Amino acid sequence: MDSAAKADLYRKLPSVDELLRNTELSPLIRQFGIAAVTEAARTVIRHLRQDIASAASACDVGDAVQCLHVAVESELHHSLRSSLRAVINATGVILHTNLGRAPLAVAALEHINQTAGSYSNLEFDLHTGERGSRDAHVGRLFQQLFSSGNAPAALSTIVVNNNAAAVLLALNTVAQNGEVIVSRGELVEIGGSFRIPEIMEKSGAILREVGTTNRTHISDYENAVNQNTRALLRVHRSNFEITGFAGQPEITALAALAKRHQLPLIEDLGSGALFDLDSVGSNEPGITDSLRAGVDLVTYSGDKLLGGPQAGMLTGRDALIARMRSNPLFRALRVDKLTYAALEATLLAYLKGHHDSIPALRMLRLPKKQIRDRAEALIKKTQSEHLSMEVVEGQSLIGGGAAPASALPTYLVAIKSDSRSGDALVTMLRACDPPVIARVETGHLVLDLRTVFPEQDEMLARFIATLDD
Ligand SMILES: *Cc1c(COP(=O)(O)O)cnc(C)c1O
Repeated sequence: MDSAAKADLYRKLPSVDELLRNTELSPLIRQFGIAAVTEAARTVIRHLRQDIASAASACDVGDAVQCLHVAVESELHHSLRSSLRAVINATGVILHTNLGRAPLAVAALEHINQTAGSYSNLEFDLHTGERGSRDAHVGRLFQQLFSSGNAPAALSTIVVNNNAAAVLLALNTVAQNGEVIVSRGELVEIGGSFRIPEIMEKSGAILREVGTTNRTHISDYENAVNQNTRALLRVHRSNFEITGFAGQPEITALAALAKRHQLPLIEDLGSGALFDLDSVGSNEPGITDSLRAGVDLVTYSGDKLLGGPQAGMLTGRDALIARMRSNPLFRALRVDKLTYAALEATLLAYLKGHHDSIPALRMLRLPKKQIRDRAEALIKKTQSEHLSMEVVEGQSLIGGGAAPASALPTYLVAIKSDSRSGDALVTMLRACDPPVIARVETGHLVLDLRTVFPEQDEMLARFIATLDD
């Protein structure tokens, strides 16, 4: 396009004020207010200027100049849409950090709904009419869960924003300006943003590394104890595993050593299962296993294997927890009523034995035959000319930095298109509403229905059919 044609188009562009006087925009201004519509109009005109600058011919942009109000409306809807959206998780990773980890149980959503939209007794004791503690709502439930799991008596639990915050609070409370002994093999980075050495530094504790990456002996810990030692720390290795010539002391041996030196033993469990995972072939240590083995304080996440909201729990001996509670950092890291509501309902589901009402637990325990039946039904439902689809064996992952070695056997729907690559199919599914997140394996689009809610199967089949066009 020559510069005279461009100049002509620029001239035809209205100013923002002129555009806003277009009567077609009046209903939008009434509905969304002048500020939002003005912003959308500005964006539309800015984009059009860029288009004119780069357009090859005048007719590419000429039409757009004619119907700017349509562009403003579509820009307005685009900019006022939520950025945070529900997606269908067909990756088979149950606790997918990028996809928000554990979906909440219906009971948790209802409890949020009932309490968070109105006033509540969050910090109000309904018996005495005096100030209460926000901990009380879940403290008693944790107590009940642990006493039925034969954990030692005299335990209490407090809740902070996430497990990283729980570790920070624990170390800051017991070890500020003192040393904490930890094995080199446990100085892990989790999910790219949680590094034990960095959290320790921020807590004011001094890291005392012992052993080697693959082996640490109880004598390594013993030799490192000195008058500045404030705690022993064990960290779950979460998303990586050391195999072969490797070893670390039993947790009971560490507990005995800690006791001998009157030091607290702290364990960052990461996921922290409240539920016995042996049945799904995972040897992920449970919270009560650690407490029974003599750990003084454990920390764990709320939205990993527990299946609840994002939160970090500290469960330990009463006296230790009392110290954590009076640390000003606890106030800074505290959680809100939405979290307490979701957590309380989730814990109640455990106490009632309603494990399958917690989506992460249900997905974890889903028999693979059920997944195969749904995969076969999905293929049957999906009419297509250019797609070949089959059910193949595969593996789901627990994720969330839990149980690195235990993948769950599953069945996958593997899809291949005559005309499009696996990557292209994945991109198309991501553009659906709601977006579908899937992966590519050996050139095939693969869908793992373990993490898809059964009521989403129907919709998924419709989306797959659109890949056929
Ligand atoms: C996941 C994990 C964390 C971090 O937990 P968040 O709840 O995400 O803060 C810390 N330590 C271990 C061992 C973990 O697996």
